[in-house]
Amino acid sequence: MFENRINRSESTSLFEEAKEYFPGGVNSPVRAFKSVSGPPLFIKKGDGCRMVDEDDNSYIDFCCSWGPLILGHNNEKVRDFVIETVHNGTSFGTPSRLGNMLGKLIVDNNRFIEKVRFVSSGTEAVMSAIRLARGVTGKTKVIKFEGCYHGHVDSLLVKAGSGLATFGVSTSAGIPESFAKETLVIPLDDREALKQVLENHADETACIIVEPVPANNGLLIQDKAFLECLRLHCSKHNVLLIFDEVISGFRVGFEGAAGYYGIQPDIITYGKIIGGGMPVGAYGGSKEIMSHIAPEGPVYQAGTLSANPVAMSAGYAALQQLAVDGFYSEMEEKTQWFAKSIEDYANDKGWEMSVPTIGSIFWICFSNDRITQSSQIDSASMEKFKVLHHELLQRGVYLGPSGYEVGFVSAAHTKKDLEEALIAIKASMDVVFA
Ligand SMILES: *Cc1c(COP(=O)(O)O)cnc(C)c1O
Repeated sequence: MFENRINRSESTSLFEEAKEYFPGGVNSPVRAFKSVSGPPLFIKKGDGCRMVDEDDNSYIDFCCSWGPLILGHNNEKVRDFVIETVHNGTSFGTPSRLGNMLGKLIVDNNRFIEKVRFVSSGTEAVMSAIRLARGVTGKTKVIKFEGCYHGHVDSLLVKAGSGLATFGVSTSAGIPESFAKETLVIPLDDREALKQVLENHADETACIIVEPVPANNGLLIQDKAFLECLRLHCSKHNVLLIFDEVISGFRVGFEGAAGYYGIQPDIITYGKIIGGGMPVGAYGGSKEIMSHIAPEGPVYQAGTLSANPVAMSAGYAALQQLAVDGFYSEMEEKTQWFAKSIEDYANDKGWEMSVPTIGSIFWICFSNDRITQSSQIDSASMEKFKVLHHELLQRGVYLGPSGYEVGFVSAAHTKKDLEEALIAIKASMDVVFA
């Protein structure tokens, strides 16, 4: 069924070697291609919307390093500024002018945060935001939503327990039950569950954390009214609202989902795009809330390489290009056109398939229903994704190697590139539904 028509011999032998050094041959699990066919591709370079593997196969890339590369690969301004910065050394463990420059660019152009703290990953940002929420409120429990991912933070690698109990059950070995118990898990898009969990637990709950644009388990676009309801209930119960914008930040607009929906959370976390392809994360909020962070306040959080000048220069050079009028509307228009082209093709043939989008995020969904909760995703449809993924690789299009992952259109994808990708996608769909 998975006949391979492209040469993957270098990737195959590099993967064999990698398995000697790394668990499962990788340094992040989803890279292992476990839910699709074949060995993971070892990529050696990228430029614009394309990347090239070790066997010299070229792909139009819709994974974009899982989101950070909103400007595509090897963006000239980012590359040049990073090289210029690196000539002066990589890290000093001191404040730097470049940190100020990125801080100012973000705070000046985002109405929803007054102060930020830079860290080195999305996970670190979320972990710190949770500690901050606990420090500010003096309460311990965290409410999260089934189907939202917040990095590999201990207390958030948790899913709903069985029955009506909302107490979390860990989804990874190595997490003490006592940690998982501090997390309450409810479904997205369910106001009744929200009301109930707050009625029972508000006095012990520090925060509600949500991906305002849930994009780690399919693309579960929420009604604005549900997000507004979260804001309302949090304020009413003295519970902090955390928007985890590691994906949506600088993606659905420069102000992320907070700006897109016009909702003021108490803390926002960032990652991915904010580093321009380098390891950067951040969390931010009002001056008052951020004053609880050390050295101003009692909530400790630190980082040896936090805000190092090289990472700051990449973030600055990238974000400067996003803070331009029309950038996001053009991305959105292009993505909607692309998604609709796929949907129209499927509809004409009578196939069960849709492509929801928001901003420049899209998701290939083997259902025609609007899906807002992770439980509505049909796991059997992932077999279709497996075929699609394989066929796309054969035709030079790269999607993240799991049907639960979303795709990203970058500024480097021209209409012509998207047209080229569409030919490959339609031909691959023909095989999927044959
Ligand atoms: C990617 C992601 C994270 C984790 O970020 P890392 O940089 O991988 O640690 C957290 N939250 C959301 C919403 C994400 O998409």
